[in-house]
Amino acid sequence: MKYLIETYGCQLNMAESSAIELMLKGQGIEKTEEAEDADVVIINTCSVRKTAENRIWGRLGYFNSIKRKKNGKLDIIVTGCMAERLKDELKKEAPFVDAVIGTNEKEEIPSYVLSHEICKKDSYSFLSSYYEEGSFSSYVPIMNGCNNFCSYCIVPYVRGREVSRNVESIIDEIRFLESKGVKEITLLGQNVNSYKGEYKGQEVDFPTLLEIIYPYLDSIEFVRFESPHPKDFSNHLIRVISEKERICSHIHLPMQSGSSRILSLMNRKTTREQFIALLDKMRGEIKDLTFSTDVMVGFPTESLEEYEDTLSMMEIMGCTEAFMYYYNPREGTPSAKMDGQIEESEKIRRLECLINEQLERAKRIKEARLPFVTKVLVRGTTRDDKSRLLGYNEHNDMVSFLPKREHAKGDMVRVRLTELNGNTYRGEEIDV
Ligand code: SF4
Repeated sequence: MKYLIETYGCQLNMAESSAIELMLKGQGIEKTEEAEDADVVIINTCSVRKTAENRIWGRLGYFNSIKRKKNGKLDIIVTGCMAERLKDELKKEAPFVDAVIGTNEKEEIPSYVLSHEICKKDSYSFLSSYYEEGSFSSYVPIMNGCNNFCSYCIVPYVRGREVSRNVESIIDEIRFLESKGVKEITLLGQNVNSYKGEYKGQEVDFPTLLEIIYPYLDSIEFVRFESPHPKDFSNHLIRVISEKERICSHIHLPMQSGSSRILSLMNRKTTREQFIALLDKMRGEIKDLTFSTDVMVGFPTESLEEYEDTLSMMEIMGCTEAFMYYYNPREGTPSAKMDGQIEESEKIRRLECLINEQLERAKRIKEARLPFVTKVLVRGTTRDDKSRLLGYNEHNDMVSFLPKREHAKGDMVRVRLTELNGNTYRGEEIDV
């Protein structure tokens, strides 16, 4: 048998797709990239934006046309957040879909593929591994769901309340990843720093989890985590990051807005002042710190002054990367019903200005760091010059460099960076 899998949305979906693939391959089912060759197509969906759902409806139409060509000999499985949100509508609008499998039942997919049977589950459970065969980098989901209910976000409705993975299972996965020679892990959760587990009879929060897993790291040199919530970013967590060299000092910290009134309407449970105080504390304690963020403009009732508060907060934060978008109402969330929705053309204008400022800022920050020496995780060769290697460092900076010796994908190399070309640093390997 052969499967084809398509994944949309967040890193957790990508991690869960890797886990599904691992289970399918364990059952002797092979991967294919061609729908015509497949016996089963699995679409792991996202509901965060309407555009993602529209794209998936389009893909479903395409897979139905292949299924007709193959006289029905193609099972189509829809899983993930859209399967949770639109279960009945999916079954009605797309009767050619063979199974709609919610996030709690993702582990049942191999059983459905083999025998068309699944067991219903009342709660989310973590899979034993999320490793993608052959990869030097792996996601490690540690919690699922969210209790925060930001007023614009559909995640708590489709992923449910927070559930944390048990510490032993996380340690087992890290041991497994070490046995595969993995160099980089990203601990994942919708609200990763609200992790709550138990170990040897003691409660374990997120920074304590980092302390527990740290001694198990050997080949793994980069430890990242996403996405933390600023309200749960404790002093203990800051201390652990500052003390543990392998925890990357590039922190993704979602800002969303620079205006306290808009943050309150978003139900973010932080203010502009608290966010700035957190940045100051982190900068004061963590050496060589860089940031990335998520930021949104055009939230209902956002005035020009409040939008400018976001622009000024972006300058204060000084990110090297930012995921910038304009507010899009999501059906089923409180903010979709708010008065004061802003015209699309105005939201686009605000976003363009935000993006232009951020691109210039990122360039300025990156140039100011030159020259410096950094450890680079090799990803391959550059496209236009095969004598140069391409990779990235703990700050997620893209790096192209001249090697002194042969290296394979996944090698860690010390590089002196001397110039910036577009968004990519350039340099050469140095001896350790
Ligand atoms: S913290 Fe807010 S934005 Fe993040 S998943 Fe939870 S509700 Fe959504």
